[in-house]
Formats: sequence, C-alpha cells, structure tokens
Amino acid sequence: MAIDPQFHENREKVDTHDGHDVWGPVDEPEKLGIHGTHVAVDFDLCIADGACLEDCPVDVFEWVDSPDHPESERKADPANEAQCIDCMLCVDVCPVDAIDVDAGRA
Ligand code: SF4
Repeated sequence: MAIDPQFHENREKVDTHDGHDVWGPVDEPEKLGIHGTHVAVDFDLCIADGACLEDCPVDVFEWVDSPDHPESERKADPANEAQCIDCMLCVDVCPVDAIDVDAGRA
C-alpha cells in the first residue's frame, strides 16, 4: 500500500503540526494520519528508513518521535515543506511509498 495521492480529497484536515497540515484519521498512538500537503508523508506507512532525510537537498524532513506506533518509533516529518524544490528524490527513495509531492496541492 502506498500513500493515497488524492488524500486531500479523501481525508479531512484534522490538525496542524509545526506549521503544516495533518490529515486524519488520527488516533494516537496507533494512527497518526498524513503530515504535510505539498510534501505529504503517511505516518502510518513510514518505517523510519531515513532515506528522505539523507537525500533531500533542501532538508525538508526532520525526525519526530512516535512512541508505540506499530510501524516505527519515529517518523520523517515534512517540517520545512515550503522549502521543497520538487526534485522528487524523496518519492523515489522511500522504500514503502509513504511520500507524495505535488506543488499544485500546496
Ligand atoms: S521533492 Fe525533493 S526537495 Fe521536495 S521534499 Fe522531496 S527530496 Fe526534498
């Protein structure tokens, strides 16, 4: 399963976190939703591989802790999504297809 690229139509915005949107459903700690809009990370798919943090040329991602989440104890948060230059590296390197980038969605 990959992140739903139509999440902004299929989900509801339930919160904001560090300046970016959070799309539900959220039921902590097991269900965390999707973080970000231009750069969107499905926290419920993220396994904390870290390739996106390593490869993003403009440091969009930062780790956030996610204790007791079934997939991983930390998540790649698109904390600086406004810096994104749409290179698509993160989308290509994510091993679980948890990231979707769409400048038109910002
Ligand atoms: S598309 Fe490129 S610039 Fe944007 S978040 Fe992903 S790796 Fe970073």
